[in-house]
Amino acid sequence: MTQQLHAVIAGAGVGGLSAAFALARAGLRVTVLERAPVIEEAGAGLQLAPNATGRLRDLGLLDRVMKFASTPEALRIRRARDGRELARLPLGPIAEFRWGAPYTVIHRADLQRALMEACAGESAISIRAGVRVTGFAVTGSRVEIGALEGETMIRFDGDFLVGADGLRSVVRERLGLGLADSPVWSGRTAWRALVPAAAAPPAAMLLETGLWLGPRAHLVHYPVRHGEFLNIVAISEDPWRAEDADDLWNIPSGPAEISPCFSSWADEARAIVASAREWRRWPLFDRNPSRRWRVDRVAVLGDAAHPMLPFFAQGAAQAVEDAAALGEAFAKGSGDVNAALSAYETARARRAGAVVVASRKQGAIYHMRGPMAFARDQVMQRLGANRMMNRLDWLYSHTPRA
Ligand SMILES: Cc1cc2nc3c(=O)[nH]c(=O)nc-3n(C[C@H](O)[C@H](O)[C@H](O)COP(=O)(O)OP(=O)(O)OC[C@H]3O[C@@H](n4cnc5c(N)ncnc54)[C@H](O)[C@@H]3O)c2cc1C
Repeated sequence: MTQQLHAVIAGAGVGGLSAAFALARAGLRVTVLERAPVIEEAGAGLQLAPNATGRLRDLGLLDRVMKFASTPEALRIRRARDGRELARLPLGPIAEFRWGAPYTVIHRADLQRALMEACAGESAISIRAGVRVTGFAVTGSRVEIGALEGETMIRFDGDFLVGADGLRSVVRERLGLGLADSPVWSGRTAWRALVPAAAAPPAAMLLETGLWLGPRAHLVHYPVRHGEFLNIVAISEDPWRAEDADDLWNIPSGPAEISPCFSSWADEARAIVASAREWRRWPLFDRNPSRRWRVDRVAVLGDAAHPMLPFFAQGAAQAVEDAAALGEAFAKGSGDVNAALSAYETARARRAGAVVVASRKQGAIYHMRGPMAFARDQVMQRLGANRMMNRLDWLYSHTPRA
């Protein structure tokens, strides 16, 4: 009988928890190390596109997630200056029929909870909170992982290590991919807020995703937690980088710090921005796509592998795709760790790299101004919903191969 493989995962975000579940289902033992003392997500919403919900369904996780998620009826795109509708893409059952899985929105904390509960139900998974991975060494067929629990240095040992430790991944840094392999600042800042429904403009609480396009900025909003909150994401070009911040997800901000570019927008858009009294703010980085996602018995996954700008709302979706592909590579493999990690890298690097590049392009389109914005708006209006949805087929209908 072959011995059960043991995976160690750094990071219990969407990527790390989905990967833990996928690997456990493939028959592995998994230890997840998370630096935060309590595993909980910051308060914010997340769009989970059909390519993510499809993979969650393959993993047997979708029913848990759908308990907390909502399915918007449409994506409504408007011009920021005057609120003119540029396009309305039907979502709901039409999106599900077209792309094979639902287009949903969810509170991040609820997604985290659903994934944590799923992992807790798997006896092969052990999760250690308050443990920060600091480095690793590969010796023969083992990986030794160094970590800090408070001030105490502790060691873990596994057959392989997966760095699912986010944008500023320590695991990726230690892979030795070269000096050029660093996060790339986008010159943009995102502000996000969750507004109680009673304080939000009623029109924004319709079960729709709203997208407003303005010069050098855009705004996205949708209700989450079955209408309890309005989730708002406002993104603009902005010189603030905050590279020293340890946790880019949790920098408090107030209405006075929001970019002034939203103040000349249509009344309805301004009312949405004005409804939030508390914001979180973070600078947006990605990385140039890399085909190298692993060295020996150490691989990266999620934002550690492919941080991307949020213009297609795909970072978490791609992390879920990674997790499903990793699980599949081990389920189909013969127990050879190097072969399985190589299959995972081959299955995922090109696809996720394409999404990184497409997200950059989408950002340039969203933030156009002057004649370019005029031309963009004309194209959107002429294309109509169906042809605009055709352009998303490559992203949302993806079927992975491992
Ligand atoms: C404004 C904005 C909006 C977005 N909207 C969407 C959206 O609508 N849809 C979507 O799909 N994606 C969206 N994303 C992207 C998405 O949030 C990320 O891609 C996703 O959270 C990545 O998950 P992850 O698990 O790879 O990384 P993370 O969520 O960053 O998790 C990494 C985990 O590793 C832990 N960690 C870090 N270092 C260590 C260490 N040394 N040791 C142990 N643990 C460690 C961290 O504490 C954390 O828990 C958005 C991003 C932004 C910025």
